[in-house]
Amino acid sequence: MIRQDILDLFRVPPGKKLRLEEHDPGWVQTKELEEAGKGAVRERALAILEENLAELAQAQELLYADGRYAVLVVLQAMDAAGKDGTIKHVMSGVNPQGCQVFSFKKPSAEELSHDFLWRCTLCLPERGRIGIFNRSYYEDVLVVKVHPELLEQQRLPPGKRGKGFWAARYEDINAFEHHLHRNGTVVLKFFLNVSRKEQKRRFLERLSRPEKNWKFSASDLAERAHWDAYREAYEDALGATSTEWAPWYVVPADHKWLARLIVARAVVETLETLDLEFPKVEGKALQELQKVRRALLAEQLRSGATTRAKGRKRGGRDRGR
Ligand code: AMP
Ligand code: MG
Repeated sequence: MIRQDILDLFRVPPGKKLRLEEHDPGWVQTKELEEAGKGAVRERALAILEENLAELAQAQELLYADGRYAVLVVLQAMDAAGKDGTIKHVMSGVNPQGCQVFSFKKPSAEELSHDFLWRCTLCLPERGRIGIFNRSYYEDVLVVKVHPELLEQQRLPPGKRGKGFWAARYEDINAFEHHLHRNGTVVLKFFLNVSRKEQKRRFLERLSRPEKNWKFSASDLAERAHWDAYREAYEDALGATSTEWAPWYVVPADHKWLARLIVARAVVETLETLDLEFPKVEGKALQELQKVRRALLAEQLRSGATTRAKGRKRGGRDRGR
């Protein structure tokens, strides 16, 4: 099982420069998986995935019943890293009423008329719910940093757009997430770290399998050409915004099942650290419930007696024919 100490491996320490070269996208070594033996790794992993989903379902029900906290899961990645599949997996384990997913694409004219956090604040999860952001306000320090011409559309007040500008955005994001944290929203952020080689393999798969063609867009290839610039933007942004209150996890994503497991596991582990409890009904409210219960039971007894009486009557008539 993936435990907290393994999750620690993937958490980006606050205040340190992140070096993605130190994070292997093909990482697969958990003690248990190693023990399971190479051939059995996939099967064992699938079994662990199932167990984990059951735990997630329980944890989410408790989150809902407790009603004081919300969980925000932010997913960021290069194309074909497995965001959609991860969301599908995590969602498959929880009650749909307790979960919301929002995908953020190129901003609309209305969205561009507001600050870069605005559209995401409209989609924040309420207490008791898990909200998943498929891309997020981080796009505004990632794709926008790689393509600074996009900033022109944002109609910002004049000023330099150098290091200080991006540092201010990181600072605003940290303040925003701190605010969420202090008000009961647990923020968890995952960067699905796919390798360039694996991305190519997945693109080729999308191109060669008709049922996967729809997933490929020509812009995916254009963005791939900016691979190094993206890596740099990710290193800067994740290093500057991994905080105690809203940590980033760099998730090895070349093995889809492992990425899914790590994300689901991190959500469960985090929920377990909260003081969640089913609301207790005590005192007057409990007395009231007991009164209602007695009333319902009495009603049942009465209706039982009536049915029996009716039965006797009908029975008598039938016999008389
Ligand atoms: P996909 O998630 O593959 O459907 O693609 C969505 C696209 O929208 C990606 O290329 C993102 O980089 C882009 N996108 C998301 N947010 C922004 C943003 N704030 N500014 C510019 N492009 C964005
Ligand atoms: Mg895409």
